[in-house]
Amino acid sequence: MELFEFELGPIGTNAFILHEESRQESLIIDAPPGAADLFQRWLEEKGSRPVALLLTHGHWDHMLDMNGVRSLGARVYAHPGDRGLLEAPEVMKDFALPGLHFEPGMVDDWLNDRGTLELLGTQIEYRPVPGHAPGSIMFILAEHGIAFPGDAIFAGGVGRFDLPGGDWSRLERSILEEIYTLPESTRLYPGHGPATTVGREKMSNPFVRAS
Ligand SMILES: [Zn+2]
Repeated sequence: MELFEFELGPIGTNAFILHEESRQESLIIDAPPGAADLFQRWLEEKGSRPVALLLTHGHWDHMLDMNGVRSLGARVYAHPGDRGLLEAPEVMKDFALPGLHFEPGMVDDWLNDRGTLELLGTQIEYRPVPGHAPGSIMFILAEHGIAFPGDAIFAGGVGRFDLPGGDWSRLERSILEEIYTLPESTRLYPGHGPATTVGREKMSNPFVRAS
């Protein structure tokens, strides 16, 4: 399994492709504006089939190209807490940049609560991490020691909780109970900025300290 990182869209949103060479399959995490065209070329070059798009949450900078990525053949997974944002993304237009195209996103599977997906021959655990958005969800590949927390936590930071549906106490609880309980060596790949580890954030994140 190989991980490829991309920084896309007008405010530098991270998206990821996990590629499994032995199966010639990929899964994609998040769909910022511009993702579909770029990923189509990338996947064609690799000869890789996109099987899934996992959305960490419903904010415009992570989902505006979800229909484009879906049209490449990926099945789209998201949390129902952000159903309103995903199906009517224009509600966040005031928080977005001008010139972007807003259309209702199509989700194939709603991931309720917590569970496990089997994709690319590996187990992908998902758990809700609300607080930045009501439908924030983290994807964990324990076998590979990596996790994708979306905008719940950043290297040395946390996600905004002042956007509609945001809630600081929920975010703090998500970080303490769902992220800081992962093995400390787990590498976190957030929705913006560089990767970090659970251990490093527990030690030095200025917003949420491990108790
Ligand atoms: Zn966000």
